[in-house]
Amino acid sequence: MTDSYMLSLRDISYSYHTLFGETKALDSLSFGVKEGEFVAVVGPSGCGKSTLLSIIAGLIKPEGGTITVNNPDGSCRYPRIGYMLQRDHLFEWRSVYQNVILGLEIQDRMSEERLEYVNQLLQDYGLEQFRDKCPGELSGGMKQRAALIRTLALDPQLLLLDEPFSALDYQTRLTVSADICHLIRQTGKTMLLITHDLSEAISLADRIIVLSRRPATVKCEIPIHLTLQDDSPLASRNAPEFKTYFNQLWEEIKDEG
Ligand code: ADP
Ligand code: MG
Repeated sequence: MTDSYMLSLRDISYSYHTLFGETKALDSLSFGVKEGEFVAVVGPSGCGKSTLLSIIAGLIKPEGGTITVNNPDGSCRYPRIGYMLQRDHLFEWRSVYQNVILGLEIQDRMSEERLEYVNQLLQDYGLEQFRDKCPGELSGGMKQRAALIRTLALDPQLLLLDEPFSALDYQTRLTVSADICHLIRQTGKTMLLITHDLSEAISLADRIIVLSRRPATVKCEIPIHLTLQDDSPLASRNAPEFKTYFNQLWEEIKDEG
C-alpha cells in the first residue's frame, strides 16, 4: 500500500465477546481510501460491514492491525469523520433547522461561518422553506437530505455512509441515492459507502470493495469506469459496462451469502 492513501487499513481484525462466546467479525482486512475517492463496500448481511465503519470512525478499537492516516491538511491528525446511518435520526421535537445545527451545537462550533454554510446547504438542497417544519412533515428523501446537511455542517474530511438509503422504498431510493451522492460528489468529499445493493454500488462508486462472509476479509477490489460517467447515476445504469460489472460482482458475492 502506498502513501497516497488518506486512510490505510492493514490486517485489521476484530471479535465481539459476549456471554455466549466469541464472534469473529473482521479477519486481517486491508484496504486504502484516497482523498476525494468514492469507495463502496459490499458484502453479505452480517459479515462485519458496520463493524468496519465503527472501527474507522474510532468508535471501537481493532484487536489487531494498524490504521495509517495521511490527513489532506498535511498533518498526521485523524481526519474529521462524518457518519450517516440507515435511519435519519432526526429529532421530531426540534425543527429541521434545529436538527441540522445539532452537531455544531453539541461540539460548540456555532461560528458565523459554519451557520452560513448550513444556510447555504439548506438553500442548495431545497430545504430552505422547510427549515421551521418538523421532520415528520418532510418526505423520506428530504429527511435524508436534512441528515446529510447535519453531517456536512461539521465539515467532515471523510464521510462514512452505512446503508443510508435502505430504509427508503425502492423507487425513492433510486432517486434519493443518486441525488445525495451527486450532492456529496460536488463537495469533493472522500466517501465510504456501505450498501448491499450491487447496482447502487456500480452506479455511484469509483471503486468497489467486496467483502467475504464473516469474518470479513477483502475478497477483491473492482475499479469502476463507466463510459457514461458524466451523466447522472441513474443514467449510468445504462452504460454498456454496467452489466459486466454486475455479473462480475455477482460471481464474487454469490458464494458468500
Ligand atoms: P453487517 O453490517 O455486515 O451486517 P455487523 O458488522 O453489524 O455486520 O456484524 C458482524 C457480526 O458481528 C454479526 O454476526 C453480528 O451479529 C455480530 N455483532 C455485531 N454487533 C455485535 C455486538 N455489539 N455484540 C456481539 N455481536 C455483534
Ligand atoms: Mg450493518
